[in-house]
Amino acid sequence: MLLSKGYKVYGTFRRTSTPNFWRLMALDIYSKLHLIPADLLDMGSLIEAIKISDPHEVYNLAAASFVSTAFEQPVGNAEITGIAVTKLLESIRFLNPKIKFYQASSSEMFGNVNTKFQNENTHFSPASPYGVSKLYAQWITKVYRDAYGIFATNGLLFNHESPLRGIEFVSRKITNGVAKISLGLEKNLVLGNINAKRDWGFAPEYMEAVHLMLQQEKPGDFVISTGESHSVKDFAKLAFEIVGLDWRKFVKIDKRFFRPMDVDHLRGDYSKAKRKIGWQPKTNFEGLVKIMLNEDIKRWKMSLDG
Ligand code: GDP
Repeated sequence: MLLSKGYKVYGTFRRTSTPNFWRLMALDIYSKLHLIPADLLDMGSLIEAIKISDPHEVYNLAAASFVSTAFEQPVGNAEITGIAVTKLLESIRFLNPKIKFYQASSSEMFGNVNTKFQNENTHFSPASPYGVSKLYAQWITKVYRDAYGIFATNGLLFNHESPLRGIEFVSRKITNGVAKISLGLEKNLVLGNINAKRDWGFAPEYMEAVHLMLQQEKPGDFVISTGESHSVKDFAKLAFEIVGLDWRKFVKIDKRFFRPMDVDHLRGDYSKAKRKIGWQPKTNFEGLVKIMLNEDIKRWKMSLDG
């Protein structure tokens, strides 16, 4: 999106023995980005990345974002998802406090709060180590805004999905599983807590909101969501319906995919974003499931055709 707006885009990546650039390849932008090795645990590397890129805007989309893994590695998660944001903000404060900073905040911070909708004024009650780390990150971002006058904005994005979603997240797990079942490549789809409800939106539209947030006169906190909430069961049911199958014949439940604690219900109220930055969602739940499912069916068909 930034490239299409004419930006020169630098991205950071963590060196691993097996490179993981499949999304950049799928979008055909790998060669158009300037990639800098950096590690969120290593403040020197963040300072270096900011020095090299000399940016006007920094978008921190980096985190260890899979909630189940955060239960298994809660301390590492706090360091990557939480403390690292202070390192980034400190780097900005030292090097160039005029840089605008975006922090990818999360609906996970609401946890099991008992309100029908969640917005910028709802209190936080995180129900996972990830939610707690994100809450720390959100508050430290606000502290740098208020204490140092840095343009530091939090986007409280509810679940946002696309065909580029990692396969371990439930949306993509379902569409990939249903695609395989519909082509006779798999027999079952094994899930955990199918009663959990989420407010699922289409990621590319959410990124437009993120960009808009940094083009405002003042920084702030903004909820981005669809205002619709559906259960995991609804998601699976609809995906199977689209390919003409009955979900009850294929979905199995396994305790392995339950979490020690789960967020039961999320539904965001995006009215502030609509009012202040003129953003609203376009793709509804059904549209999203169709986009993801069709793409997964296309991928599997292509791989079958060799
Ligand atoms: P999250 O909202 O960031 O945790 O996104 P996920 O896609 O990982 O999970 C959304 C909801 O789906 C959570 O309440 C999970 O407990 C629930 N869920 C049910 N079955 C599964 C499963 O097999 N995998 C995952 N990832 N989540 C599942």
